[in-house]
Amino acid sequence: MATRRPFFAGNWKMFKTGGQAAEFVRDFAPLVKNSDHCDIVLAPPFTALEAVRTAMEGTNIELAAQNVHWEKEGAETGEVSGSMLVAAGCRYVIIGHSERRHHFGESDEAVHKKVKASLEEGLLPIVCVGETLSERESDETQKILERQFNGGLAGLTPSEFSRIIIAYEPVWAIGTGKTATPETAEEAHALLRGLTRKAQGEPMAERLRILYGGSVKPDSVSGLMAQVDIDGALVGGASLKPDSFAAIVNHR
Ligand code: PEP
Repeated sequence: MATRRPFFAGNWKMFKTGGQAAEFVRDFAPLVKNSDHCDIVLAPPFTALEAVRTAMEGTNIELAAQNVHWEKEGAETGEVSGSMLVAAGCRYVIIGHSERRHHFGESDEAVHKKVKASLEEGLLPIVCVGETLSERESDETQKILERQFNGGLAGLTPSEFSRIIIAYEPVWAIGTGKTATPETAEEAHALLRGLTRKAQGEPMAERLRILYGGSVKPDSVSGLMAQVDIDGALVGGASLKPDSFAAIVNHR
């Protein structure tokens, strides 16, 4: 069985100015400087990318954006392109976060276009999928995950797919304090790995990293990470404080 390198990303959403972001990195970097068992990524708002890029120089922290537009440039007020993110120092980009899907109407088709454009620019997409509470309660979780997986990642070549990370983020667990149980999360992760096996074959399914996201905290991360198909976490609230995000990264 492939060993997958754990991956922890902090999604800061619309929190922190450049100054606050730089202060975070100054406090956080020493806490994770020996954490070479995993990848550590911060996704600040666009306006704090430069401050984090500068502050993280010489550390083991990498940079992600929270969104991207699929065009290279153009009349798209308020949007940012993949080449701009690369120039700003990003290696990763979060695509299709549930807040983008639900607050801003982002469709699977838009997710697909963003994934393709990001890959073309050399960015590594962290593609989010996940069901709402009413979808879970009406037994539609599998159908929703299949639709989001197939819609967002359709037709990727093996070389493209090998650069994808998936984040399973049940909408009912995001920012609510309700973490999915390790068993509930594992069931969805196994399903997503199964979809990858079907679309891309066994070796790709074995190497794909699937993160769990949804109210991950220092005291819930170990149980989640003990599951065979959970390879890391996408963390919102608990990534805003250096101590708690470091405790998640260093949970072992
Ligand atoms: C997220 O923003 O992706 C997230 C999972 O948030 P939280 O950890 O606060 O639930």
